[in-house]
Amino acid sequence: MRRSTPAEGATRPDTPYLIDSFGRVATDLRVSLTDRCNLRCTYCMPAEGLDWLSGPDVLTNAELARLLDIAVTRLGVTDVRFTGGEPLLRKGLDEIIAGTAALHPRPRISMTTNGIGLARRAEALRAAGLDRINVSLDTLDKERFVGITRRDRLADVLAGLAAARSAGLAPVKVNAVLLRGVNDDEAVPLLRYCLEHGYHLRFIEQMPLDPQHGWDRAQMITAEEILDRLRTAFDLTPSPARRGAAPAERWLVDGGPADVGVIASVTRPFCQACDRTRLTADGALRNCLFSRTETDLRGPMRAGATDEELADAWRATMWAKLAGHEINEAGFAQPLRPMSAIGG
Ligand code: SAM
Ligand code: SF4
Repeated sequence: MRRSTPAEGATRPDTPYLIDSFGRVATDLRVSLTDRCNLRCTYCMPAEGLDWLSGPDVLTNAELARLLDIAVTRLGVTDVRFTGGEPLLRKGLDEIIAGTAALHPRPRISMTTNGIGLARRAEALRAAGLDRINVSLDTLDKERFVGITRRDRLADVLAGLAAARSAGLAPVKVNAVLLRGVNDDEAVPLLRYCLEHGYHLRFIEQMPLDPQHGWDRAQMITAEEILDRLRTAFDLTPSPARRGAAPAERWLVDGGPADVGVIASVTRPFCQACDRTRLTADGALRNCLFSRTETDLRGPMRAGATDEELADAWRATMWAKLAGHEINEAGFAQPLRPMSAIGG
């Protein structure tokens, strides 16, 4: 039973922005550029991949540019993050970023990537307008990397990280998911590596978003466990930096200034501060990563909807956002799409 329904009796105020019935305002747009990927991380995809979207189903670059314009100029979106699947696989990525950077007011632009091929593309992405980047890296061990991602590409990822830093994509963040019995002894080595290279490390609790439905709460490495492991080698103190809507709780490492973050979506949900809205590669709007409903914008757009009609559909979608994700409630059901198709 879903309990956190939209606030009862609330009436949407007359505002152009993406407000929900609990008063949260979405200003951070996550855009999935493709559901395809060149890795097969075990916790994200089966070895054979998934039933990818077909070409005509995916928004064209022009359609995407139109929706980005609506989001920024009509709906108050200030931050755009490109993700996927693997966003570096999207044709015309540099132009998509440049078009986003040309919007007024210019949004901050970031990307979450597995880093494959980033080494030769980081400069051009920066020149196009990319401000910041998150690179996913779960292990520093070549064999384990093959075990987790089913591809032998650790060297590419590390080279991509270095190139991102050289290109000035600051701060370079690293996302890591720890899996019990696989890489859960790497919290300390990953942090050491990131400190040495000037990367900002964020651990993410594993979430029930895999298509195999293999997530097991008992197997999940919790934020508390991650912190315990880090404390065996580092002194951690709560960061004085304002958290705002950021999902990561941050700790200063050995007094700072370097810090480490933990995104405890499961054990310490941060839904009450959520400022996100999401667009899938095929033009579906989602008001939550865990939402079980979507609003199709591609159909109306191709049928001739005006910008204001599309903006209104977006506003209505966000107004209906639930209070929280309910992973910890009895009867929780995973969203119908996996993480890689929603956009992580
Ligand atoms: N392919 C890109 C990448 O790996 O960074 C972008 C998409 S990926 C879905 C975005 C992030 O989600 C990655 O950091 C990945 O580790 C994380 N992720 C994937 N499945 C997850 C899950 N079930 N729980 C927590 N994080 C997950
Ligand atoms: Fe691909 Fe990212 Fe999923 Fe790994 S986590 S399979 S890199 S989409």
